[in-house]
Amino acid sequence: MAALGVVASAAVFGESYAIHAGKLFDSEKATLLAEQTIHVVDGHIDSVEPGYQQREGASVIDLRGYTVLPGLMDMHTHLLSEHSARSYMDRFILNAPDYTLRGVVNAEKTLMAGFTTVRDLGDMYNATVSLRKAINAGAIDGPRVFTAAKSIATTGGHADPTNGFRADLMGNPVPGEGVVNGVAAAREAVRQRYKDGADLIKITATGGVLSMAKSGQNPQFMQDELEAIVQTAKDYGFSVAVHAHGKEGMKRAVNAGVDSIEHGTYMDAEVMSLMRRNGTWMVPTLMAGEWVTEKARVDGFFPDMVRVKAAEIGPLMQETFSEAYRRGVRIAFGTDSGVSAHGGNAREFVLMVDGGMPAAEALQAATLNAAQLLRVEDELGSIASGKHADIVAVKGNPLEDITLMQSVPFVMKAGIVYKQPQGETSASAGTLEDEGEEQGQ
Ligand SMILES: [Zn+2]
Repeated sequence: MAALGVVASAAVFGESYAIHAGKLFDSEKATLLAEQTIHVVDGHIDSVEPGYQQREGASVIDLRGYTVLPGLMDMHTHLLSEHSARSYMDRFILNAPDYTLRGVVNAEKTLMAGFTTVRDLGDMYNATVSLRKAINAGAIDGPRVFTAAKSIATTGGHADPTNGFRADLMGNPVPGEGVVNGVAAAREAVRQRYKDGADLIKITATGGVLSMAKSGQNPQFMQDELEAIVQTAKDYGFSVAVHAHGKEGMKRAVNAGVDSIEHGTYMDAEVMSLMRRNGTWMVPTLMAGEWVTEKARVDGFFPDMVRVKAAEIGPLMQETFSEAYRRGVRIAFGTDSGVSAHGGNAREFVLMVDGGMPAAEALQAATLNAAQLLRVEDELGSIASGKHADIVAVKGNPLEDITLMQSVPFVMKAGIVYKQPQGETSASAGTLEDEGEEQGQ
């Protein structure tokens, strides 16, 4: 399924590392291996060998006191923004460069939290396409970005950019701006995303919490519109990610053959078995549920229309996730960061484990499963020979204490070290002997 070479890389050629991993998370088997060496050459994983090995010309990175994992992958972010009580006003006062510059800062926070790959599911001004280009060129630090650019909605739907505006400002947004009605417009919007340089398609199949609209769950696309989106997306090699809270819209989308359901709040047993049958992924975004629940308690934080939806929908999300997990729905990790603060992404692991998923499977959801959803499992998602050297490490054993994922002291992307533990490792041309003194606590 995966197209070889689709993952961009700005690796520094000629750099070789031997990473000594005290424990290594094998995302294929969802288990830990003890005392492994990962040989990294030219931004790729050359081999993984048992024991602590060295090679001529390779710098040793001593992570013997750490658990080493594949770079983490968040399948639902919005890098350009971060929600606050002021967000509804921002739409009137911020320009494209304002959003773009915020995206630069948020991208760096995300990478430094150990997330080396993200899907961005809805931006403004196609600025995440530019962000992706700048990151891939090595001009700024950030994760690998797979972006949907502007989400596609129907008139008044969850991602209609003029919801809640004064009547004379509402206008009539066109497919390029993310609003479609009917099959022809649905096709046009997908083709416009191709022209804009998007990597996938995001649609809003039901109402949502944070938009200025009454319902958080009504269906907002007809079956023929959904089918037009999916069929057109296929022509361009796009997958389709679907925002959905309500059951009816979710069911229509799954029947149309979409790739992932985001949030999935009112997903019931019928939809779950339909998803299992179709191989549809669920991206739970439990952090968004927690965040809106918390903010709904604060007077004046949300407009009244939004507050009602937040209080109703937010608290249900984790329960639905638990049931979907029990029923065997395929789950990929996603946070909806941009609702909550960027860089806090690993909180999602804690909520997934609280919801009944074993830690090893939560880590698998953010590595191997995410790579499968992105159709890049030949290049990312595990620490294996031939894949990109996207590697992170945490102190201790995250299978015993998942909260350890919230502090990631080592980050490598495409063989470039972005972050390493202070005073414990050296990526310079040292040897195991010179560096062995300080570690081990
Ligand atoms: Zn979202």
